[in-house]
Amino acid sequence: MTNKIDILTLFPDMVGAAFQESIIARAVSKGLLTLNCHQIRKYTTNKQGKVDDYPYSGGPGLVMAYQPIADCIRALSAEASAQGDNSEKPYVIYMSPQGKPFNQKKAQQLVQKEHIMILCGHYEGVDERVLEEFVDEEVSLGDFVLTGGEIPAMAVADCIARLIPGVLAEGSAEKESHTGLLLEYPQYTRPAEIEGKKIPEILLSGKHDEIEKWQVATAEKRTMQKRPDLYKIYQEEKIKSQTYYFDNSATTRQDDSVTEEMCDIVKFLYGNPSSLHHMGLEAERKLTEARKKIAETIGATDKEIYFTACATESNNWALRGYLEANPRAGKKILISSTEHPSVGETAAFLEKSGYQVERLPVNNMGIVDLDALKGAITADTAIVSVMHVNSETGAIQPLKEISAIARTINPNVIVHSDCVQSYGKIPVRIKELGVDMISTSAHKIHGPRGVGFLYIKSGIRIAPLLCGGGQEKGLRSGTENLPAIAGFALIAEKACHNLAENENTVRELNNIFRQTLQEEIRACVIISSEDTCPYVLNVAFPGLRAEVIQHSVEQKGVYISVGSACSSHKKDRSPTLTAMGYNNNVIDGAIRISFTYQNTKEQAEFAAKVICAEVKKLYGRRKGSR
Ligand code: SAM
Repeated sequence: MTNKIDILTLFPDMVGAAFQESIIARAVSKGLLTLNCHQIRKYTTNKQGKVDDYPYSGGPGLVMAYQPIADCIRALSAEASAQGDNSEKPYVIYMSPQGKPFNQKKAQQLVQKEHIMILCGHYEGVDERVLEEFVDEEVSLGDFVLTGGEIPAMAVADCIARLIPGVLAEGSAEKESHTGLLLEYPQYTRPAEIEGKKIPEILLSGKHDEIEKWQVATAEKRTMQKRPDLYKIYQEEKIKSQTYYFDNSATTRQDDSVTEEMCDIVKFLYGNPSSLHHMGLEAERKLTEARKKIAETIGATDKEIYFTACATESNNWALRGYLEANPRAGKKILISSTEHPSVGETAAFLEKSGYQVERLPVNNMGIVDLDALKGAITADTAIVSVMHVNSETGAIQPLKEISAIARTINPNVIVHSDCVQSYGKIPVRIKELGVDMISTSAHKIHGPRGVGFLYIKSGIRIAPLLCGGGQEKGLRSGTENLPAIAGFALIAEKACHNLAENENTVRELNNIFRQTLQEEIRACVIISSEDTCPYVLNVAFPGLRAEVIQHSVEQKGVYISVGSACSSHKKDRSPTLTAMGYNNNVIDGAIRISFTYQNTKEQAEFAAKVICAEVKKLYGRRKGSR
């Protein structure tokens, strides 16, 4: 492919002169680049050769007219296609102070185009209809105004031309400023000493590895000094690339789009949704929009969504609020024996106030025993609460069957589910699952902390946990956390829209760990069966201690967890694995690896290898100490 650049201008001599010297002139003569300047005036159809006219909007200056530019672009495009030297339609750029700032990345994109036309404006610019009809992209040289587009066009053409393979000596453009995230290291030439100033000794050592290290270190230092803005991005990327985060069931990294949305609201939409003035109404509008978006993700109506501070609040509220508002609903509460403490402890609290709590057993896959459920439901059962996806093992509870069984025996029973580990990861459609209330949280799906929601099916009475200003229809007082709510809605909508695609990505990552660990460590026990939610993988290394594995892999930048993150600071053994029938030797050596679609295959391969290496080392040490 030969790159072709056409510059369309009223001052072709000015532009042409710049390319008659040095590197670009050599590239043209070697045939690596075809570069031509075209006089727009040549295409005007009026006798006076006029190319501009007064602006309709009044005001000073002249505007370059549509006709000569249109005819020039059309003629050059037709010529190119007649010559058949370029198969692609020319890519038309208008140099403009209103365009996107030009940079090295843009040059790298533009060098991929076979044929570029650069239109130079002059005076007040060009008739807007030229932009609408012909221009693919407006590009600016920076936030300042020049008299014409010729100097910007020369800069853009020069920058593109030196990226064409063969124009520069091999490798010259590779380590330059702005090709990566750092500025280039300092350059010196002969003599090695002048006026008492010596070049750094390392450059005379002939040690290439050491010289490369010096280049990186000095590039870092000068970027930090000269361009702290670039250095910040460099550091963020460096940290990211050395971090292998597989503890996503504990929490996820907040998505940048969420942070941006939240910052905008914090800065500009800071009115209280309860205020009656314009800013309050705007905030309320945003709140309503977020509620609608969230409702759609689960097939509910916006009236059924109540924002809370977290899933723990939602779980507490669902159980305590329902029982308080419905004292005659019954005295019995059924939960699974593998619930998160925010359900388990709430049930225990209610038990102390006179309710009877039955904890349903699970099988060795962590699935609730449906026969036990059948036997436990009575006319006195007020509520059944079973989590959708288990946070430690990924076991998916058959909620549909659970609700159906519960309602067949007692039609008045209420079914609640903690959907923290399923929402935004696998389908959560309330009608299909047959649930009356669900709890969710934003920070498990790249949303912000401090926000969740409780879905309450319309018609269900519930007492508030928090009384006050009457927000959330009087059921959850407290000024709404609008930035977090809007951030939650944004990421929830994205996640629920891409469920299948994200699940496939995560399954692939999960399989990398399963296969690598099984192949390399004979003793490993895969606790999460293949049909569990792929976002979680629980694996045990009997005889080892999970905390020790966790700390040793952390030294290599790999982050995993021991049991459920909400309770991992407690020293007790996991009730989930105990309920599944595992012995203490297995439970104590169980680690949880949890995924996000933002993890990469390379990260998974690296982290799986690190875990294998560390586990082998730990087993080796155990043998040695016997
Ligand atoms: N009236 C225009 C405005 O306010 O946006 C500015 C017109 S400027 C005086 C004339 C021409 O110079 C523009 O049409 C454009 O082609 C070119 N130009 C000026 N500043 C530029 C910049 N920063 N980047 C790219 N082109 C620029």
